[in-house]
Amino acid sequence: MKKHNFYAGPSIMSQFTIEETAKAVKDFADMGLSILEISHRSKQFQAVMDETVALFKELLEIPEGYSVLFLGGGASLQFAMVPMNMLIHKAAYLDTGVWASKAIKEAKLFGEVDVVASSKDRNYNYIPRDYTVPKDVDYFHYTSNNTIYGTEIRKDPEVGVRMIADMSSDIFSRPVDVAKYDLIYGGAQKNLAPAGVTFVIVKDDTLGKADRVIPTMLNYETHVKKGSMFNTPPVLPIFSALQTLKYYKQLGGVKVIEKMDMDKAEVLYNAIDSSKMFVATVPNHEDRSIMNVCFVMKPEYKDLEKDFIDFATERGMMGIKGHRDVGGFRASLYNALPMESVKALVDVMKEFESKH
Ligand SMILES: *Cc1c(COP(=O)(O)O)cnc(C)c1O
Repeated sequence: MKKHNFYAGPSIMSQFTIEETAKAVKDFADMGLSILEISHRSKQFQAVMDETVALFKELLEIPEGYSVLFLGGGASLQFAMVPMNMLIHKAAYLDTGVWASKAIKEAKLFGEVDVVASSKDRNYNYIPRDYTVPKDVDYFHYTSNNTIYGTEIRKDPEVGVRMIADMSSDIFSRPVDVAKYDLIYGGAQKNLAPAGVTFVIVKDDTLGKADRVIPTMLNYETHVKKGSMFNTPPVLPIFSALQTLKYYKQLGGVKVIEKMDMDKAEVLYNAIDSSKMFVATVPNHEDRSIMNVCFVMKPEYKDLEKDFIDFATERGMMGIKGHRDVGGFRASLYNALPMESVKALVDVMKEFESKH
């Protein structure tokens, strides 16, 4: 039976990425050796690193003066590295979920943090709108896509100060005006590569301003100077990232991908909104994520949730159980997920409904 992959992360990768990675594990760049057993300083791997950075910059139209880094530690290490390197006196943070609050917790270790707004009062099922960001902050930090709750900020906010964003789960799903940001980061395991690599886009001239001791490995300047090769980088995930970027370019780039993602999300949200049994957890359509669609059963059908998961899993729908903080179901529709899978899920939902 065909499996449809709705896992939230690590998550579906393009077939192209998986096949090219499998080939390189057997024989990389006609070296007669696996990519797993060669030096990261070989000219063959250096070529992979250079091409990955170049294609990343090309696809996101990153302006001059920015570096793209590939580091370890996940997005979670960035929660601390960002304020360690960039927080001088005060920073503003928007609290839209668990990941955002984890970033806030780390920032507080390094300076004053102004949490300008929070949607915690309704279990993070909306994006706060009425807030102002003080002009005297070093940066405004937000999470563009809230993977757990299925909310998303799809337009670069206009807040009048330099921005930093965690784009772990929606990078390459829309054009980004990178010039408005000092830094953008994310774990790669949602829209880019297997787990193990973190991307960082950083404006070079913002570095070196914080007046504190920064350990070498946690200093962005180290990695900018050494082109992400200060120590051994995550070689295989970087190779896979390059394959995904090639696949994105071949699809036509981020604008084309955005249209495909919007179409997929529309099909699923329409099915949920017109159903007698299911209801989306995010009421405001503008706040709904096109990457992670969260839904539950209406109160009168609540006791059928477990049955639906079993029913859907038996029919090849993998990873649709909701996060424990939200319950119900979550279908992640990342870039590599085909429309065919969304339609298959909708069919299974309709079939289940007709039986009850
Ligand atoms: C998955 C995720 C994280 C955590 O990433 P790690 O690489 O596991 O540290 C952080 N932020 C967002 C928005 C995520 O989706």
